[in-house]
Amino acid sequence: MRSAAALIFAVSFSFLCAFGKSEAGDKPKAKMALIKEKTMNERWKKSDAEWKKILSPEQYKVLRDKGTERAFSGKWWDNHEKGIYVCGACRLELFSSETKFESGTGWPSFWAPIASSSVATEEDNSFFSKRTEVLCPRCGGHLGHVFNDGPKPTGLRYCMNSVSLDFEKK
Ligand SMILES: [Zn+2]
Repeated sequence: MRSAAALIFAVSFSFLCAFGKSEAGDKPKAKMALIKEKTMNERWKKSDAEWKKILSPEQYKVLRDKGTERAFSGKWWDNHEKGIYVCGACRLELFSSETKFESGTGWPSFWAPIASSSVATEEDNSFFSKRTEVLCPRCGGHLGHVFNDGPKPTGLRYCMNSVSLDFEKK
């Protein structure tokens, strides 16, 4: 129960942040967070108990509890097939194999999502560091983080957890 309360607190706090930032009106990240609120489908607003029934324990730990899988342990970091990576919870299309690159981190890495609206982002200040969290805009599932040390053309590195993704081969 304590983790559920913490989650509720974290979620309401991040809403506050998103709205606070949107009033300032200058941060593209705040805009993306608002897109998430608008597009988050009612069908995918579920309780922790419901998610536990739908997801495997490994998926739940990352997607709902914002965990991180061990590097080189996931299914997709070394996947070189052509296709689309979808959300492991709601199957929304997130990334294409076209923007996947070898980051050497042991996590599937992309320099861009399929479209800017394909993912939502939020500031993450946990673990005493400032990072940008990447979430599924439809179900709110935690996917990973985005960093500014990626390759051209965007210079971004979307560092994802394999367990948050599923792959549809083309
Ligand atoms: Zn999703």
